[in-house]
Formats: sequence, structure tokens, C-alpha cells
Amino acid sequence: MGKRINKYLDLIKEGICSVVYSEEAECPICKVYSQDGTLCEKCSSRIKLCYNSYILNHNNIDFKYYSAAYYAGTMKELILRLKYKSDFVSGEILSNYMISKIIEENICCDILTYVPMSRKALRKRGYNQSECLARNIGKELNIPIIRTLKKIENTQDQIGLNGEERWQNIKDSFKVINKQKLNNKKIILIDDVITTGATAFYCARELLKGGVREINILTAAKSNV
Ligand SMILES: [Zn+2]
Repeated sequence: MGKRINKYLDLIKEGICSVVYSEEAECPICKVYSQDGTLCEKCSSRIKLCYNSYILNHNNIDFKYYSAAYYAGTMKELILRLKYKSDFVSGEILSNYMISKIIEENICCDILTYVPMSRKALRKRGYNQSECLARNIGKELNIPIIRTLKKIENTQDQIGLNGEERWQNIKDSFKVINKQKLNNKKIILIDDVITTGATAFYCARELLKGGVREINILTAAKSNV
């Protein structure tokens, strides 16, 4: 019974994250005419792509991460729309940039996972934007998506904290779940934005402790703030 309910929940979630495109061919950001409803030329020119990969280092542990573009201009707008306005068209556009990154950089994996939200935060927003991105990517590239982490309640929101405070605040916030599905797997950890990298770092560290063989982090955007 529990399994069946979970399956229905998955189907509902998939429905929430996927998008039915409207007939109208307009840019989702500025609403000018755009063939097939994707970003117009002007809005896509306001995206500054990231090239290559980066290293996230803390306490002598390294993780490799990739970001599709810098957190500015149209990219920032797409993320804010996905996060705060339930705009899943923006989510699909972001996912497509991330899919291109996976293909261009040839990032191999067995499963996709995502940075979790606390139950309280999830209840408030109704969906996890990182999970939405992971589901879009997984569906397109035919990669299984597994929930591998849970976020423990009562950590403060990272917004408004300085660099050092962010690392401290998030340090013990994540715990591995579904451990039996992780052993020796290559994983891509999906998040919307990487800033200091503290969140992604501690998620990746937990996964590593949980028996994962290789982790690459992929975010839609990279913020230098
Ligand atoms: Zn536009």
C-alpha cells in the first residue's frame, strides 16, 4: 500500500514539474514573439554561460562542480520565476541549459539526485525547485532520479548570512536516506544556484559517507556574491 501511494505521489510530482506549453509563441520573459515559445534572442543574449568545471574545496575535501551559466541577467530571472512564482516554463528552460552542460562536458552518472528542502520549507513552497530541475533532466536523458538526502529542520535560511556563517549554519543539516540505492553509484547532485557552495558541499559529503563512488555537482547558475 505504502509503495503504491509513493508511486502516485511520484506521478503527481512529475506532473507538477512538467509543463504544458501554451499555443502562443512568445518569450516567457519579455513576451515578444518567439518561435516555439522559447527565449527570444535578446533574452538569451543576456545569459552568460559558464565554461569548464570548478572545484569546491573545504577542509581538504574536493568536489567537482559545473554550472550552466552565471547568476545574472536572464538566468537570475528564470531562477527567481521558478523559485517564487511557480513558473515551470522557466524551470524547463533552465533544465535545458543544464542538459546541454551534461552533454558537452560528458558528465557520466548512474543516478540523479537533488538538494533537499526541509519539510517545513517544502510545505510553504509546495515543490522543491531543485527536484523539478532534476526531474526534467532525468526525464529527458532517461536517468533515474532518487531522493537520497533529507534536510533536518530548524536550520536558518542561508539568505542574509555571510560566507562563514553559511558554512556553520548548514554543517550538519543533511542526512542520507535510501542508502541501499547509493552504494558504488556515480551521482550528479542537482541544485538551482551555487553561491559559497556550503550546501552542495555538505550534501556531497553526506553522499560520499553513504557509499557513493563519484559525485559531480551541477547547478543551473553560479553566483559570485
Ligand atoms: Zn525575451
